[in-house]
Amino acid sequence: MSRPVSHRARTRTSFLLATVLTVLVVTFNPLSSGKHLRSMLGIGQDLTFTITDNGAGAGYTFAATQPRSGEPVTWDRCAEIRYVVNPEGAPADQRRLLADAVADIEGASGLEFRYDGTTTARDFRDRASLFGPVPPVLVGWATPDEVPELAGEVAGVGGAEAARTGPDELAYVTGMVVLDRDAFAALAERPDGADLQRAVIVHELAHVVGLGHVDDTGELMYPETTRRTELGPGDRTGLDILGQGPCR
Ligand SMILES: [Zn+2]
Repeated sequence: MSRPVSHRARTRTSFLLATVLTVLVVTFNPLSSGKHLRSMLGIGQDLTFTITDNGAGAGYTFAATQPRSGEPVTWDRCAEIRYVVNPEGAPADQRRLLADAVADIEGASGLEFRYDGTTTARDFRDRASLFGPVPPVLVGWATPDEVPELAGEVAGVGGAEAARTGPDELAYVTGMVVLDRDAFAALAERPDGADLQRAVIVHELAHVVGLGHVDDTGELMYPETTRRTELGPGDRTGLDILGQGPCR
């Protein structure tokens, strides 16, 4: 179903969601003791998406696919996706907003998240280059001065980082969602602002679990904000597939 959006409405709410999809791949450095992580791909590298159409016009894409099998890269289906929140610059109702958005992704994918509390961490752009234990997904708010990918009308950036779990197999192990502080403040002024804010977070979390963009305004994975605030049929199909990855 097409959703005509008036030019006026569009120009007022045309915050781009993540134009910069972050998919980093981390691997074990063979020269180290095997515990050091290093980044193989830089932040902001767009991967080529494979558009999948199920015949009903409902599409989805995956952020990354396995190098040999072509199956989507997923999280461990049997482990919780831990996340921490940096509340600096966040809307006052950020806990409820995030909990609602996480519940949407959990409901559609079957994956489970675990809130690990607040943090002061702000390493949105180099989560992959940390040494030591793999950190949880980081969610926070920032300005383009700190995260240049938020420049322009970008409301958020989200993505995951994958580690090698076999010779030709990757699995997501961490990720980040960074939301534009000023865009969220502007959305808060609108009567439908809370729904739009939640939709942005759901979109970015969908990137974290492995969805890419689609060129269909009937889906929440359309790269710009529309009046749609709920997951579309293709979004749900893609998330369902991402929840059926290997149990490691
Ligand atoms: Zn996006």
